[in-house]
Amino acid sequence: MSASSHAPLHVVVAGGGIAGVEAVLALGDLAGDAVRMTLVAPDSEFELKPLRTAVPFAADHRRRHPLRELTRNLPVELRQDAVAAVEPDRHVVRLAEGGELHYDALVVAVGARPRPAYQRALTFGASPRTEALNGLLADLDEHYSRSVAFIVAPGVSWSLPLYELALMTAAEVWSMGIDDVQLELITPESAPLAIFGPAASSAVAKLLDDAGVAFRPGAYAEVDARGRITVRPGGHEVEARRVVALPLLDGPRVPGVPADPHGFIPVDDHGRVRGLDDVYAAGDGADFPIKQGGLGCQQADAVAEHLAARAGADLEPRPFRPVLRGKLLTGHGAQYLRNPLHGGAGESRASDFQLWSPATKVSGRYLSLWLNHLDAGGTRGLATPAPAPPHVDDVDIEVPLPAPYELRRRTLAFDPYSPVRHPVSRA
Ligand SMILES: Cc1cc2nc3c(=O)[nH]c(=O)nc-3n(C[C@H](O)[C@H](O)[C@H](O)COP(=O)(O)OP(=O)(O)OC[C@H]3O[C@@H](n4cnc5c(N)ncnc54)[C@H](O)[C@@H]3O)c2cc1C
Repeated sequence: MSASSHAPLHVVVAGGGIAGVEAVLALGDLAGDAVRMTLVAPDSEFELKPLRTAVPFAADHRRRHPLRELTRNLPVELRQDAVAAVEPDRHVVRLAEGGELHYDALVVAVGARPRPAYQRALTFGASPRTEALNGLLADLDEHYSRSVAFIVAPGVSWSLPLYELALMTAAEVWSMGIDDVQLELITPESAPLAIFGPAASSAVAKLLDDAGVAFRPGAYAEVDARGRITVRPGGHEVEARRVVALPLLDGPRVPGVPADPHGFIPVDDHGRVRGLDDVYAAGDGADFPIKQGGLGCQQADAVAEHLAARAGADLEPRPFRPVLRGKLLTGHGAQYLRNPLHGGAGESRASDFQLWSPATKVSGRYLSLWLNHLDAGGTRGLATPAPAPPHVDDVDIEVPLPAPYELRRRTLAFDPYSPVRHPVSRA
């Protein structure tokens, strides 16, 4: 399929999560009728997973939107199924329910596979079920538990949800009138939310301090079968009655698609899967080391631009240049954090006020607009052509300084406090 052909490029998007929906919205806007899309998704609804942390604290409600909203004004057909395997030579995906779909281009956006980091811990976020955290809050209220350790396990690259849980638990405990609970956040990071840079780290350090959450940086925690916590280096034992942790993520290992040793799909800066023609990947399933929805959207945008150009759209596809945007729920509102990981696009920033717009929990060029539209009761789907995305921070000067591929893969390379220097300073 080439831009000279008049038949629309048939793009199959696998996965109706954050990256898949962003890819569909972006491609629909950029390529219009030059593409037709099929979205293969096992669920009929889109869930905004990052709001799971808000649910136990009634700080927001879980947002679910029917995926069929996408079909209102976009050339996309829904297929409620799952991709079981890809046959790249035949340009075919095999579906779990037995059928096959031919593609001109395939976007794999099937997410990652969560697993508990510790056996003896409350693993939060791996599923939509958040009741266990309500149980923990009830235990604190009824004085069954007096101490909680929130542990960022080694290997967790997106730790913000755990900071939210710690801060919101502190606010909840305070509102119950309890003042003898010990809350501690234990993490290998060298400063709070270090990937957001120094401004954000000091703002979050103050939030933790004000909330009475002790912070133990540079700590790699082990939790044994009896729930005993040992922190290395040093081998100190930490007392805590309860442990809350985020899951570790493995790659999706889609049969027929290359995978690194952890199962993640290796891609280049345009999201093209290394070693396969016409197959792209975006989101948590791809091999970028920070597994975050906003970054997944930026990867999906890079894929969509590349595909739109192939389909004949008049644009120069831009590579993925990650800018981290995080909305941290604090129990007393939100803290907005922003850091351009690739450098040359401004400083690390933290603010009580919105640093981008629309300030949805996940910042996606198209997804944010779509979510805002649906939350406002919109029923028409995103208008076609889509309105220009009004990201207020898009005025930043973008200086493309691609980090070496091997360095990009190491999460620590993004920690400005880390002995592994920031990739830009090496470039
Ligand atoms: C508690 C929590 C809080 C978070 N907070 C934030 C935050 O504040 N900001 C932020 O940006 N990110 C946040 N994240 C991270 C964010 O949710 C993920 O990075 C994001 O969901 C990844 O998007 P994705 O599309 O790659 O994967 P997913 O959102 O997991 O979507 C993948 C989709 O693919 C489908 N699928 C799976 N297998 C197949 C298959 N074989 N065929 C077809 N479809 C398939 C799944 O059903 C799913 O719908 C948070 C995550 C959690 C769990």
